[in-house]
Amino acid sequence: MFITLAKDLHPAPLQVADDPRWARIVARDKSADGEFWYSVATTGVYCRPSCPSRRANPRNVQLHGTLDQARATGFRPCRRCNPDGPSLEAGNAAMVAAACRRIEQSEEEPSLGELADAAGRSAGYFHRIFKAVTGLTPKDYAAAHRAARVRQGLEDGASVTTAIYDAGFNSSGRFYEKSTFMLGMTPTRYRAGGAHEEIRFAVGESSLGAILVASSQKGVASILLGDDPDALVRDLQDRFPKARLIGGDRDYEALVARVVGFVEVPALGLDLPLDVRGTAFQQRVWQALQDIPVGRTVSYAEIAQRIGAPKATRAIAAACAANSLAVAIPCHRVIRKDGALSGYAWGAERKRALLDREAASDNANRSVRA
Ligand SMILES: [Zn+2]
Repeated sequence: MFITLAKDLHPAPLQVADDPRWARIVARDKSADGEFWYSVATTGVYCRPSCPSRRANPRNVQLHGTLDQARATGFRPCRRCNPDGPSLEAGNAAMVAAACRRIEQSEEEPSLGELADAAGRSAGYFHRIFKAVTGLTPKDYAAAHRAARVRQGLEDGASVTTAIYDAGFNSSGRFYEKSTFMLGMTPTRYRAGGAHEEIRFAVGESSLGAILVASSQKGVASILLGDDPDALVRDLQDRFPKARLIGGDRDYEALVARVVGFVEVPALGLDLPLDVRGTAFQQRVWQALQDIPVGRTVSYAEIAQRIGAPKATRAIAAACAANSLAVAIPCHRVIRKDGALSGYAWGAERKRALLDREAASDNANRSVRA
């Protein structure tokens, strides 16, 4: 009876199940929070899209573009997801991201007390949230960042080999050993393709191995992962045969450090302009990949459905393999329909490591919320 009444007040919009926003509710997509809200006629509450409560029947759900529209239903705000308040996730993530930037930019490692003061929280609370969001203590994060930090920039493009050597490799590390043969190369080789375009790049070190980041004027154009830094530089050359490659300067180091930080702690997100180059089809696939939230996986077949090309599973696998922006375009979140990992351009072990890491940070987020 109540249900009938509620239905009459809110005539069930049959299209909710087909609305793309419903898929985001089903996925409990945190990135949808703040974009829209939904109300559930049968329970008389309204929620934010990521609400952890048991999923409602879409026939009883109404979508609202604004919080005011959700309130206008006369329903109660859900106690679990607190749709009226700022998202806890968003607040915590912003707080932790600010602390990470502070650690990265400090010459000396900030103390826990300093970080907590800057965040306006108690040391204990700050430490707990930081660990939950990143999976690391602030001290561990600082250590990881130090290890990853690109050591030195280059003033100009005069000696590309020196730039590679200085920009990416610790003098005591194994990358230093591996890079020595680069010293025999001349910068002219890097410029042979012509000077129509300049690509800045640097190599850093992450827990997944060497990481090369390269940018055009428009944005980050390549993120490459591998064991051998030299092979990454050659790979970059193959991808941009006509471009002038320029070893990283000091500004560029900071960007590489951010990408390394994102690889270490995917929950922080990577909000960088990308220079995505590919065919129209590849761009559609890559866009669909960017819509997969951290901590989730989808099958090649599912991507095929999502881009409206249900028979193109093979072409989608090929587009994933052609991705030159590792992690930023998360092709590692695509797996086979039967759950098998399938291939990864940068090695199946790295794919496994990335997925494990993202699943861990997703679980940590949930436990903070609960
Ligand atoms: Zn809720």
